Amino acid sequence: MPLARWWVDWRLKRFIETRNMIPLYEKVGAIHIHTVFSDGSGHYREVIQAGQELGLEFLLFSDHRTLTPKRQGREGFYGETLVGIGYEINDQANQNHLLAFELEEEVEWGIPPIEYVHRVVNKGGFAVIAHPDERRNSLPEFPPYPWTAWETEEFHALEIWNQLSEWMERLTRWNKFWMYLNPRRSLVAPTPWTLELWDRLNLKRRVVGTGGVDAHAHFYPLFSNVGVTIFPYKVQFRSILTHLLLTEPLQTADPKGALKQLFTALRAGRVFISNRFVGEARGFRFWAEDFSSGAVYLPGDRVPQGVDLQFHLKTPQEDDTAVIMMDSQPVWKRRESAIPYRSAQPGVYRVEVHRGRRAFIYSNPIVIEAAP
Ligand SMILES: [Zn+2]
Ligand SMILES: [Zn+2]
Repeated sequence: MPLARWWVDWRLKRFIETRNMIPLYEKVGAIHIHTVFSDGSGHYREVIQAGQELGLEFLLFSDHRTLTPKRQGREGFYGETLVGIGYEINDQANQNHLLAFELEEEVEWGIPPIEYVHRVVNKGGFAVIAHPDERRNSLPEFPPYPWTAWETEEFHALEIWNQLSEWMERLTRWNKFWMYLNPRRSLVAPTPWTLELWDRLNLKRRVVGTGGVDAHAHFYPLFSNVGVTIFPYKVQFRSILTHLLLTEPLQTADPKGALKQLFTALRAGRVFISNRFVGEARGFRFWAEDFSSGAVYLPGDRVPQGVDLQFHLKTPQEDDTAVIMMDSQPVWKRRESAIPYRSAQPGVYRVEVHRGRRAFIYSNPIVIEAAP
């Protein structure tokens, strides 16, 4: 094992042993799934089975405008796979899609986005802005559904990478057959616009970045009765995955408690996002250490100005390219520097990992807050 790699492993192990602060319990799953309860083609059972077969540890469903499956008691463990159920809200123009989790009932229909975000948050729900900047314009039959109601400041999270949106954005009349056949090959990266917006929001407050599969498994006829399914659930469950870092083992005997644990990690931003098509991202870590106090910080943490942080990271493979971004600008790149990055400057620090030419992992940020 190369020395640098050994050293990272040793530091990580030491942090875990001495501070007991690095979460050890990583749960990997898919967020934003549609079923026959709205416009998806899959039944709960088969969608869950697809997730189980791929080893996903959680599935968060979000059918359009209904929590019926939750009321029917479909949440819980299915083998090793934990199922949570929220729903997707939209406004009267079918824009401003919001994923709402941890709710017992739907909020009123037909109210403006700023109101539904407020009500979801007020009722204790977890509010995620879905596909914030969809722009696809090339095919009239697939209009975009962006978020426009930016006057709201209460949402908790932003879906920074949505498999279906990105696929649709890259779709044109000329490439569509290639795109149908290569759904995951067409995934490149979240848009710079979304990433910059996400970083700007985090200067002020914590806004968690999540991944979304937006799985529907729609059937599209191409010629008479020949068609394609865009995309089978199993294909999408091997695309944009969300990794949660839990501080305690999942309470498998208590599904409600276990769901609470997932949402606690989500709300805290102890989250990273990977493209499963590129590789297995389990084991990626990003953390920072304040040498003067000995404190260790994790993604999602916000640290007051005045600390001097040393940032550490561990990529799944030695030759993955890791870049530390500060306020959307690259400030450190592994391979150029073997020395850990150190900074006391206020800003939003997060990691992007590439493997070959492909975007692979996006961590949530550790933020040094500017003094007010
Ligand atoms: Zn949507
Ligand atoms: Zn959706």
